[in-house]
Formats: sequence, structure tokens, C-alpha cells
Amino acid sequence: MRLWQETVSCEVYGNLTICRANLDGVKRKIDWCYDCKGRRRFGMWFYEWYGARQICGNCGRRWEDGEWMPFSWPVSDRQDNIEKVRTLWRKSAAPKEKP
Ligand SMILES: [Zn+2]
Repeated sequence: MRLWQETVSCEVYGNLTICRANLDGVKRKIDWCYDCKGRRRFGMWFYEWYGARQICGNCGRRWEDGEWMPFSWPVSDRQDNIEKVRTLWRKSAAPKEKP
């Protein structure tokens, strides 16, 4: 039970309970983007249980555990993702991944 509480956050809304894996950490990284066909700034988010989420700060493309993800709402998803990565890069506290 203790382990469960440490790896999951749950919020209760009346009859509905939403649980999600905790965020383990974030990193900044320069990597090759297959959509941009160039080296770009990336944000990486690490969660319990799952592979890393990686987002290109130039085109907003997202990879989950190395897998290319389609956009559900192409324009707004792209803008939201780009903004997330830019915010991460603005925060100097996020460590850079060593190559
Ligand atoms: Zn890109």
C-alpha cells in the first residue's frame, strides 16, 4: 500500500477518482527531431512506470517512450507542446541531459 501511494497521485471528484503516475523529473536536451530534420531543443518528462515523454520545442512533436505520437488537435496540441518546452528551457533549474 505504501508503494502505491508513492508512485500514484489520485484526485477524487464525487464518484470519480482519477489516478496518474507521479512525475519523476524533467530534463532539457538537444536531440535530433525527425519531423524538423535537425537538432532541436527538447523537453523530457519522466514518469513512474512509463518511458520518457519527449517533446520537440520547435515543431511540438511528442514521443512517448521513443514512439512517434500523432496530434489529436494538430494546431492547439503543437502550440501547447512548444510552449511547454519553451517554459522548461526558460527555467534554468531543469538540468541538461548529458550526451
Ligand atoms: Zn521538431
